Amino acid sequence: MGSPRLREIFPRIDAALSRNRLPIVVFDLDSTLFSTAPRNLAILREFVDENASMHPHLADVAERIGLDDMGWNVHEDLRRFGFSEAEVLARLKGFWFERFFRDEYLAHDTPVLGAAAFVHACHARGALIYYLTGRHVGGMEIGTVRSLRENGFPFWRGRCVLHLKPSFEMNDSTFKQEAVLDVRSYQGEVVASFENEPGNANMFLRAFPDALHVLLETIHSPNAEEGSSALVRTADFVLP
Ligand SMILES: [Mg+2]
Repeated sequence: MGSPRLREIFPRIDAALSRNRLPIVVFDLDSTLFSTAPRNLAILREFVDENASMHPHLADVAERIGLDDMGWNVHEDLRRFGFSEAEVLARLKGFWFERFFRDEYLAHDTPVLGAAAFVHACHARGALIYYLTGRHVGGMEIGTVRSLRENGFPFWRGRCVLHLKPSFEMNDSTFKQEAVLDVRSYQGEVVASFENEPGNANMFLRAFPDALHVLLETIHSPNAEEGSSALVRTADFVLP
């Protein structure tokens, strides 16, 4: 169940409209609107299929791992389950890296509970939907649009922006800091933002102190900074 405070966003959208301001809601994609666990698990299974004949123990371990066991690093997940061959884990890391950031693997992602309905509700009420993601141009744009559409998120209907990182190499948090300028260029009113990375959520809180900033309690990068106590925490988008 999502936080009851998610409902506060709707009157905030109405209030901005009544002031003749464009309400803007910013949504991160990975681990915010979408769970990346199925993508990680699919890559892990592909690796296991290719390597199980040489490492039968790998298949035994992988058999026990499910979606709920997928964390930030798939090789760490495997290690946690008792697989410790360093050479194989290092190869898995490379194997994962070559696949995770590609269009075709995005098809595995599933929406976080209630996400599509919630984004629709914001859009229908009059908000501009600003999808802001560290996925990069030059490998993830087509898969991203496809997965937004196939999972029922508003997209081809106006008032929807999709902003991807201009290059794979660019740092994610630098990209999002710079994207704030683009968000401001609409001269609207940011009413809410959604993120799974506490550092990014804190940055949005500093940039738009009057908005509601929501931290998805899914997974985040290791050694992430502490999320501000002013952030609203939620596990999903299901309205209570
Ligand atoms: Mg994310």
